[in-house]
Amino acid sequence: MKIVIATGNKNKVKEIKDFYNKFEIYALDELIKPFEIVENGKSFKENALIKSKAVFEALSEKQKDEFIVLSDDSGICVDALSGNPGIHSARYSGKNATDKTNRAKIILELNKLGLSSANAHYTACIAISSKFGDYTTHGFMYGKVINEERGENGFGYDFMFIPNGFTQTIGELSQDIKLQISHRSKGLELAKFILNILEKNYRMK
Ligand code: IMP
Repeated sequence: MKIVIATGNKNKVKEIKDFYNKFEIYALDELIKPFEIVENGKSFKENALIKSKAVFEALSEKQKDEFIVLSDDSGICVDALSGNPGIHSARYSGKNATDKTNRAKIILELNKLGLSSANAHYTACIAISSKFGDYTTHGFMYGKVINEERGENGFGYDFMFIPNGFTQTIGELSQDIKLQISHRSKGLELAKFILNILEKNYRMK
């Protein structure tokens, strides 16, 4: 059994490959030409399944026999901003949003409320599509967002997110620590049970 990751986000691919060093893992563009997937679900779970199912359907019959598809839909929810940006994390600052403009919008919104920090959590939904069916798991990382950027590690909102139990942002912590505590790692840890069972099924097919 081989795994293809249904994302064009190189940071996510790296984190997933680092976490699952025992599986044979491919980025999407190593297997097929990436195509646009409209993520119009109402939850992380719906969007993760939209991605994993769309990529599985795009595989050839031979590939469907060998590969399972793993996707990640993730984002950050800030309590003081009514849970936003949530599932809109990638496009929080508009159509041409970048990670930088998205962080700037959170800082702006916190400043408008006169807050220098606010409770927040990251969520990752991991979806798996395979010839044996579709599965999902969730992982969470709790902490707070601050109204400034610190550090250089990670991506997205990492430079302004301080996990519970730490005083530094994920941007200031090492990649090893992020791999131990992140929402994505927790979702991937749970997904190991599903992957191990699928691997047996693929071997017996
Ligand atoms: P998706 O690719 O549609 O799942 O969008 C994910 C959004 O959430 C992007 O804006 C990311 O920057 C943000 N995000 C998800 N996971 C992380 C993370 O581990 N660190 C920082 N930002 C993240």
